[in-house]
Amino acid sequence: MDQIKIGKFIAECRRKQGLTQMQLAEKLGITDRAVSKWENGRSMPDSAIMLDLCMVLKITVTDLLNGEVVTMDNYKEKYEKNILDMVKQKEEADKSLLLLERVIGIFSIIILLGFTFLASFLEMQAWLRITLIVLGFVFSLVGIGFALRIEQTAGYYMCRKCGHRHIPTYNNVLWAMHYGRTRYMKCPKCEKKSWQKKVISKDN
Ligand SMILES: [Zn+2]
Repeated sequence: MDQIKIGKFIAECRRKQGLTQMQLAEKLGITDRAVSKWENGRSMPDSAIMLDLCMVLKITVTDLLNGEVVTMDNYKEKYEKNILDMVKQKEEADKSLLLLERVIGIFSIIILLGFTFLASFLEMQAWLRITLIVLGFVFSLVGIGFALRIEQTAGYYMCRKCGHRHIPTYNNVLWAMHYGRTRYMKCPKCEKKSWQKKVISKDN
């Protein structure tokens, strides 16, 4: 997706509707800074606001995503390209998320070990010692819960028996036996249990 082109297109459509950045922002209930950022190609309107924006600018979402009015002739081609772009973007985002998961996981362990270490070896009163250990546990549990949430939703798990790729429930991920990100779970398609690997894309 070409953000610069989309930005110029938004500005052009806005002027066509006789609106200033401020007036457009007011109609959408956002700041004129946000509008200016889109038009400079520094950010994209998020999906929640896209439909309203298109309605005000009297264009389709496909027009917006392509940064031009898409005619019937090239509609299908452009539409398919948009879908592909979005899949690619999701895959990139998932990759970053999985990296973030690793960082959170490592930090959680460091905090737990650090707090436990302090509580064990430093001179302090008993209540402080206990508080430190409890805090260490709470922080690391929150961190690990968060990391697990990322692992559940970023990318897919692939069934080893039939190759089906799916997103399991949080509970399935939480309670499954695992090594690294590979988890022993039941496939929703063939219903067989296997060690399912984490994969980024939906297709082979
Ligand atoms: Zn399967």
